[in-house]
Amino acid sequence: MAEAVVIGAGAVGIATASYLQREGWSVTVVDREPAGLSGASFGNAGLIATHIVEPIAVRSILPKLPGMLLDPTAPLAIRWWYLPTLLPWLVRLLKATAPAEVERISHALGTQLARADEAYRVLIDDADAEALVRRKGVMVVYPDKAYLEANAAYALDLRRRNGVPFEILGDNALRSMLPALSRDYGIGVHFTAASHTVDPFLLVSALARRFEAKGGAFHRAHATGFESTGDRVTGVRTDAGVVRADLVVLAAGIWSKPLAAQLGSRVPLDSERGYHVMLGAPGLELALPAIVGDVRFSVTPMAAGIRVGGTIEFAGLDAAPNPARHEALLGHARRVFPGLKTEIQTRWMGHRPSLPDSMPVIGPSPHLRNVFFGFGHGHLGLTSAAITGRAIADMAAGRTPPFDPTPFRVDRF
Ligand SMILES: Cc1cc2nc3c(=O)[nH]c(=O)nc-3n(C[C@H](O)[C@H](O)[C@H](O)COP(=O)(O)OP(=O)(O)OC[C@H]3O[C@@H](n4cnc5c(N)ncnc54)[C@H](O)[C@@H]3O)c2cc1C
Repeated sequence: MAEAVVIGAGAVGIATASYLQREGWSVTVVDREPAGLSGASFGNAGLIATHIVEPIAVRSILPKLPGMLLDPTAPLAIRWWYLPTLLPWLVRLLKATAPAEVERISHALGTQLARADEAYRVLIDDADAEALVRRKGVMVVYPDKAYLEANAAYALDLRRRNGVPFEILGDNALRSMLPALSRDYGIGVHFTAASHTVDPFLLVSALARRFEAKGGAFHRAHATGFESTGDRVTGVRTDAGVVRADLVVLAAGIWSKPLAAQLGSRVPLDSERGYHVMLGAPGLELALPAIVGDVRFSVTPMAAGIRVGGTIEFAGLDAAPNPARHEALLGHARRVFPGLKTEIQTRWMGHRPSLPDSMPVIGPSPHLRNVFFGFGHGHLGLTSAAITGRAIADMAAGRTPPFDPTPFRVDRF
């Protein structure tokens, strides 16, 4: 049987390994850590956010730049000492804010995300993991209609034009779904086709267990490089030996950058650091997740309590988490859900693997015939893990994937 090696056991790596296995590959996943534990896949907000088709950057970001540099607790912050490193990434981000680019990117992401749920269901059904998923949509809340119209009308229009279903709810309807919400929020947009998991780590673990039960292997080591002959990689070098490979998929999240460079592909991948606080005894129940549209953070009901998550911080891979950002998240959450109890809590920070155009890299290496990339999923890696895996398995089999992969190619920068 032909041997496929997937580097990285996050959501994307495990979903890709599962889809390759379904195609008849003998698959080994290389990761020193257990599936879903060490990367962004552990601590994300759990949203299967098929509604977020637009890029993160919009023109209105420019006037806010000084504030981002000065206030390390702002929802979007750049640590001033990281600015020189980040500058080329920011320049590319600004290019992606051109109106034609926003339209193009939203269309590309829209076609990919439209198939995300269907691709997940295949893996979730197979792993018997439906209990970890709630299909109640996601509610984005705003102070009032004027705020929504001034700040979110364009994004909503983009989403509508890209086939995303939603309903706008006035005060009464919103409160009937989220009774614990502060009176400061009077309008909501219910994205009915979105869903969430009650524990992203348990979801990735369940898929990994199923993969293993069907004969998939884990090589618990750190990938350090590659062995190749001509235009083919023949093995993945690790700190615990070489794993022979007929096919290699690089899916190591934020850590993919140096390995991609070894394969001849330089990518502007950087970390959008995100934070969460998990509240063990929140004192209230939420019927569905809420995203707070004016401060941009999420509040997700999970199996172990309520997870308050979000914020974007640019400070590279090595800087310690900033506790003030956790405090700021908690402050916002208490204000938006006044009954929220925050005594029992755990805190986490992780790295969204982000490319400046908000699109992942999905597709073949232009240099090596048997190498594929699946990384850079930014804010949406939990959402699009399965559709990425499905697309890579299709391409490896010489089939056309369910969405056009051209905009996602590695050499687009
Ligand atoms: C606060 C926050 C909230 C988020 N909320 C959401 C959300 O609600 N919905 C959503 O869709 N997305 C969300 N995201 C984004 C999402 O979590 C990521 O896009 C996704 O988890 C990336 O998955 P991944 O498999 O690519 O990477 P990761 O989960 O980071 O996994 C990478 C894996 O590669 C391994 N690895 C690294 N280097 C090597 C090596 N050299 N050799 C072998 N293995 C290696 C690591 O150990 C790790 O297991 C959020 C992110 C954050 C930070």
